[in-house]
Amino acid sequence: MSDCIFCKIVAGEIPSYRLMEDEDMLAFMDIGPIRPGHALLIPKKHYERTVDMPGEEVARLMTHLPRLARAVVEATGADGYNVFQMNGACAGQVVPHVHFHIIPRHNGDGIKFGWPAARYGEGEMEKLGEKIRSRLL
Ligand code: 5GP
Ligand code: ZN
Repeated sequence: MSDCIFCKIVAGEIPSYRLMEDEDMLAFMDIGPIRPGHALLIPKKHYERTVDMPGEEVARLMTHLPRLARAVVEATGADGYNVFQMNGACAGQVVPHVHFHIIPRHNGDGIKFGWPAARYGEGEMEKLGEKIRSRLL
């Protein structure tokens, strides 16, 4: 897509620090790291959300995740890592081209992501679960 910043990175039209790539995927350093070593893994083809991608293409992209995460963790001496993937502005997606964040984490690094866990009322989970099930085409 011509006005997509990540498509421009794929095409080499704007600079990025590339980590690994093949015909279908690219991994590069995030320019605004949550923690040093924060990397992004993207499909080279433009898709806005993971629901727009054929399952096989998501699966193929994910085959590269362990290799990238291992390298990020080893290079930063991290104790663990987060994988995030946002879909839609409401979910915090700023760049509308599918990307997976790999963020190295250290014990005591002080980073807190909001996780406002709630509780279902009586029967609510089952009702919504049934609605979701009925849409699993
Ligand atoms: P989102 O909020 O859409 O999940 O995250 C977009 C990410 O892309 C952010 O972490 C941001 O720092 C990163 N980003 C945005 N523009 C650029 C860029 O031009 N180059 C690189 N390397 N990363 C970018
Ligand atoms: Zn794009």
